[in-house]
Amino acid sequence: MNTLDASMRQHFHQQLARREAELRLLLRNSGDLGSEAPDTAPRDVVDFKELATEQTQATVDDAKTNHAVHELDQLAAARRRLDDHSYGLCLDCGDAIDLRRLEALPATPYCTSCQAVHEHERPQATRR
Ligand SMILES: [Zn+2]
Repeated sequence: MNTLDASMRQHFHQQLARREAELRLLLRNSGDLGSEAPDTAPRDVVDFKELATEQTQATVDDAKTNHAVHELDQLAAARRRLDDHSYGLCLDCGDAIDLRRLEALPATPYCTSCQAVHEHERPQATRR
């Protein structure tokens, strides 16, 4: 099944590439995270919260770094799905992922409802 036409695939290819570049930059400059948009405060708080109880800024940076590494994995997987035309379909239920969700989180492998399930099982580096 192929939910996205060629121009949309091209669009998301660019989104993925841009996000990947951002994350790589972030990892290079970890400790200087000012480039992250303020409204992307992490909601993937399971390990984040554990870590953050004791210390503050340093562990926040660590959590962001872990988050970035994880998201890079997701981006790589998303690119493969883009190549084999399964991008945009939820890995769990196979439904098309809402385009606005893909715009916000181009690497996300799950639709909103499956994401909610996964966030209960194990933290995903996804914010919404
Ligand atoms: Zn789903």
